[in-house]
Amino acid sequence: MGSIELSFPTQAYINGAWVEADQGASFPIENPSNGQVLAQVPNMGQAETRRAIEAAGAAFLLWRERPALERAEILRRIGQIMMAEQECLAHLMTLEQGKPLAESRGEIAYGASYFDWFADECRRGYGAIIPGPSDRRLLVIQQPIGVVGAITPWNFPNAMLARKMAAAIAAGCTVVAKPAELTPLSALALAEISQQAGLPAGVFNVVTTNQPAQVGAELTHNALVRKITFTGSTEVGRILLKQASEHIQKCSMELGGNAPLIVFEDADLDRAVAGAIAAKYRNAGQVCIAANRFLVHASVAQLFAEKLATASAALKVGDGLEPGVAIGPLIEPVAVEKVERHIADAVARGAKILTGGNRHKLGHTFFEPTVLSNVSPQALIFHEETFGPVAPIISFSSEEEGLHLANATPFGLASYFYSQDLARIFRIAEKLESGMVGVNETSISTAVAPFGGVKYSGLGREGSLYGMEEYLEKKYICLGGIN
Ligand code: NAD
Repeated sequence: MGSIELSFPTQAYINGAWVEADQGASFPIENPSNGQVLAQVPNMGQAETRRAIEAAGAAFLLWRERPALERAEILRRIGQIMMAEQECLAHLMTLEQGKPLAESRGEIAYGASYFDWFADECRRGYGAIIPGPSDRRLLVIQQPIGVVGAITPWNFPNAMLARKMAAAIAAGCTVVAKPAELTPLSALALAEISQQAGLPAGVFNVVTTNQPAQVGAELTHNALVRKITFTGSTEVGRILLKQASEHIQKCSMELGGNAPLIVFEDADLDRAVAGAIAAKYRNAGQVCIAANRFLVHASVAQLFAEKLATASAALKVGDGLEPGVAIGPLIEPVAVEKVERHIADAVARGAKILTGGNRHKLGHTFFEPTVLSNVSPQALIFHEETFGPVAPIISFSSEEEGLHLANATPFGLASYFYSQDLARIFRIAEKLESGMVGVNETSISTAVAPFGGVKYSGLGREGSLYGMEEYLEKKYICLGGIN
């Protein structure tokens, strides 16, 4: 890809070719830090999506037959090229998404780790032999499900796609990806890398669009697509689940969260503050597993709030490419409006602003890191994902109350808590209603562990030894007449 500045593909990628939209339509991609237009990308619709699906359908017939070791080799090469190009890819991501460069580098390494992991998993599509009646032998084999439609969000433009793509192609599936309209450039860069790594034409396709409903409709109404894997809001997940019912497509859904971070009275407070800072301000709070509600035991609430406010106020806000910046811009103006609405509502219900609370003096979509104390469980911020740099503190006075507040949400993606008491650690970890629990730790994402939620946060798991199952079907074969 060569030099850093804008040397990445801006056309869509279908059947191994870089293509424009049929009617030549395009839409602009802006840098959220300053509104500057970075590129124009094709604005595709149903016809182009259908072609991508057909290409993936044809490629599937060959890709599923490739020996696992050959698939593994290509997967590993994709991860290696990503790491060789880490600096370019990170720079591109910061330009289109806004996150600080160090976080972008981390996301590229995280995305690459899925290719490395699934390069190994690829060889473990084991089946089974089941004891049966004496004249029969019962076998189970695992086979790739077919063409996969993958729809991804803007907050992790590389990793959310990488962990779907790596698992799907490891399983022997082929993919039509539709990246978010705000950040398609990182997906196109990944397509270019897959091409360099020798992934055959049609195995991975990227359709760019700012008419997501049209592309989503084709992906779900086209019977060639056997699997929909989606990461994004619960609202859109629900629409896709309904649409996927037409052809009974298998679905994986990585949806919204509303993570609690509980600080018990026996917590190591400094460790809890450090964990809270990481879990709250990464990507300016625009993370599905961001801590959204800080539930703190009344006996330590004031001290925790003071420490968190001091640490928050010290974070540098600015353009993600600037050295030392910890918090970049929010993705777009409506995101800032939501943050303001949540703060105003909490304050109207009695919350106190300990630090921040306003748009940052840099203007545009920059917002101050904000800590609110004395927040009511009735507040909007308690019930909805804020997706911004706001830490609301809600105090509780017993373990039961803390646990009850943590689970008082229909979402169940991640939860965190801080405690030094082993019995309590097991009690709480087992009772939290979420797919992932961080105990004295908020940095929980890794390719080797299962990522996913319960309740309104989704269906299925990504990564880990379970991740490939989402793209495989089990076939039972009964061999009779064996005497
Ligand atoms: P979103 O649901 O608005 O968009 C996600 C994707 O869906 C985008 O590609 C968008 O273009 C597409 N889309 C929108 N309407 C569609 C339709 N009718 N048919 C088909 N596709 C459609 O979400 P977002 O704002 O991009 O991302 C933020 C949300 O994603 C948050 O709720 C966050 O918690 C969630 N998220 C979840 C995870 C997870 O792993 N659980 C990870 C990251 C983000």
